[in-house]
Amino acid sequence: MAGILDGKRIVVMGVANRRSIAWGCAKSLMDQGAQVILTYQNDRLKRQLEKISPEGTPMIQCDVAEDVNVENTFNKIKEDYGNIDGVLHAIAYADKKTLSGGVIDVEKDGYNLAQDISAYSLIAVSRYASRIMNEGGSIATLTYMGSTRAIPSYNMMGVAKAALEANVRYLARDLGDKGIRVNAISAGAIKTLAVTGIKNHGDLLKESEIRTVDGKSVDIFQIGGTAAFLMSDLSSGITGDLIYVDKGVHLLS
Ligand code: NAD
Repeated sequence: MAGILDGKRIVVMGVANRRSIAWGCAKSLMDQGAQVILTYQNDRLKRQLEKISPEGTPMIQCDVAEDVNVENTFNKIKEDYGNIDGVLHAIAYADKKTLSGGVIDVEKDGYNLAQDISAYSLIAVSRYASRIMNEGGSIATLTYMGSTRAIPSYNMMGVAKAALEANVRYLARDLGDKGIRVNAISAGAIKTLAVTGIKNHGDLLKESEIRTVDGKSVDIFQIGGTAAFLMSDLSSGITGDLIYVDKGVHLLS
C-alpha cells in the first residue's frame, strides 16, 4: 500500500525507549513509507534503540549540548545516506533542581541549560539539517501548552517551551525561501522518561487525562500520525504553526 511518506528520508531525534513520543513518531513515519534515521543522545540509549527498532534502522549519536555534534551528525547523514526530507525534534531537558521548584527559584545555570537543550537545540538542528534538506522539506518539534499557561509543576519547562514556539515561527520565516517548513506539535501529557523528571508528574498526568474530551490520554501513535502528516506534502501549506494533539485538553483548561 502506498504511504504518504514513500521515498522520504526523515531524521527522528529523541527516542529514549518504547514510551518516547519520538518512538510513536518514528513508527508512524515508517508505517507511511519513510526511511527513518534515528539519533540518540548516548551509548546507553543506543542499546535501547537497538532492542526496539527494526533490524538495519540507521542510528547516529547526537548529543545536542554542543553545536559541533549537531553539525557532525548532519554531515555524516549526508555522507552515508544523502539528502534528507525532514527532521522530527523531540528533545527537552532540565535538571532535577530546576524542575523541583517554581520559576521564582530557578537559578541562572539551570535556566540556561533548560533553554539550551529544550529550545536552542531546535535552532542548531534546523541550521545544519536545512543544509542537507531537499526543497519541500519539513521540520517539526514537540511542545506543551505550559508555554502559554502557568501549569502547576511545569514551571521552567513552560518557559523553555515558550522560547521553542517562538523559534518555530522565526525559523519558519528564515527557511521559507528554501522551501522548508517548520512547525510544532503541542502534545497532551503522556507518561515518558522526561515527564517523570517533573515534580508531582502524577498529578499533572491525572489532571490532563481528566480534561480530555473522552477521559483517555492521547497516545504516542496519535502524535505520530500528526507527525507523519506534517512530514508529508499533504501539509505543504502549513508553516510556523502549532497543532494541538491532546484530545482537547487545551479547550477545557
Ligand atoms: P523522552 O524522555 O522519551 O524523550 C526525551 C528525549 O530527549 C530523550 O530521548 C533524551 O535522550 C533526549 N535528550 C535530552 N537531552 C538531550 C541532549 N543533550 N542531546 C540529545 N538528546 C537529548 O520524553 P518525551 O516525553 O517523549 O519527550 C519528547 C519531547 O516531547 C520533549 O520535547 C518533551 O518536552 C515533549 N513533550 C512531552 C510531553 C509528555 O507529556 N510526555 C507533552 C508535550 C511535549
